Amino acid sequence: MNNRYARQALFLGENTQQRIQQAKVLIIGAGALGSASAEMLARAGAGKLTIVDRDYVEWSNLQRQQLYIETDVRQNLPKAIAAEKRLAQINSEITIAGIVEDVHGLNIEELMKSHTIVVDATDNFETSLMINDAAMKQGIPYIFGACVGSYGLAMPIIPGETPCLHCLLEHLPLDTMTCDAVGVISPIVQVIAAFQVMHVLKWLAGKTMAPIVQSIDLWKEERAEINVAKLKNPHCLTCGEKPIYPFLQFENQMKTHVLCGRDAVQLRPGLVQEYSLEQLASNISQQVTNLVVNPYLLSCQFEVYRIVFFANGRAIIHGVTDSKKARVIYNRFIQMGGACK
Ligand SMILES: [Zn+2]
Repeated sequence: MNNRYARQALFLGENTQQRIQQAKVLIIGAGALGSASAEMLARAGAGKLTIVDRDYVEWSNLQRQQLYIETDVRQNLPKAIAAEKRLAQINSEITIAGIVEDVHGLNIEELMKSHTIVVDATDNFETSLMINDAAMKQGIPYIFGACVGSYGLAMPIIPGETPCLHCLLEHLPLDTMTCDAVGVISPIVQVIAAFQVMHVLKWLAGKTMAPIVQSIDLWKEERAEINVAKLKNPHCLTCGEKPIYPFLQFENQMKTHVLCGRDAVQLRPGLVQEYSLEQLASNISQQVTNLVVNPYLLSCQFEVYRIVFFANGRAIIHGVTDSKKARVIYNRFIQMGGACK
């Protein structure tokens, strides 16, 4: 036996160290938060790490996505594969599975099965709500985290104990900021990932998990700990008396529809939410041209695409016929929750 975990075991105790080594952690998203969490958990000796991501490594990722190097960009490697490779170099004694996949309502439950705990490192709030549904349904602890700019949120969600993300939907600061629109600095990523991994370790150590949302803006040097115990909704459709897990249902997911003969794709988000088009316009004004806003819609030009956003989140993107590509463009500008990786 080597002593690679000696310092950690000294702090956490041998029993917790063993539990870490038996843990099967699912990390959804291999962007900035996912990279940071995965590296910490690999070094901590988490028995099995599964990391799922649909994207590939780009130059703009290297500033904050710590698992990736220039070679990964040059080779166009999917993030899940590049992450698996790097994590195996960090710790060859654990099992690592990188899965190149878009997580959606039809595969999330299968992906989550057999894992001990799930870490949310996705880049949009709608996916977070779906993960929350699947975790509550399977009774698996779910560690929420999100960040944009210099601001971030983290919270442990324990089935049957804490409020779930759906309970907090009305209370979390949802806006239309995205990393692509306002950017992100790596220190906030490290802080939020640190909270998420700490929650994983505390849960494995058998500690009581307080229903506290950490809200941090590093640049403004502002921080709040919000106890959300009272926000647990007994009628919550995800964690209440009669759960129906609405975000797992296909009806509630983003629908894309190729508009025949128009060289355009329509996108309709599952989570209906009214947007302030004025706010959206000010967030994206640096990225686009020909920006026009009226009470009904926002129209703009981005690269070769003409994008029309409606106040309920629906959009039509002209100049594209591929749904996936349209979704990428859409997520660049509209992300509920300001989640950012
Ligand atoms: Zn709930």
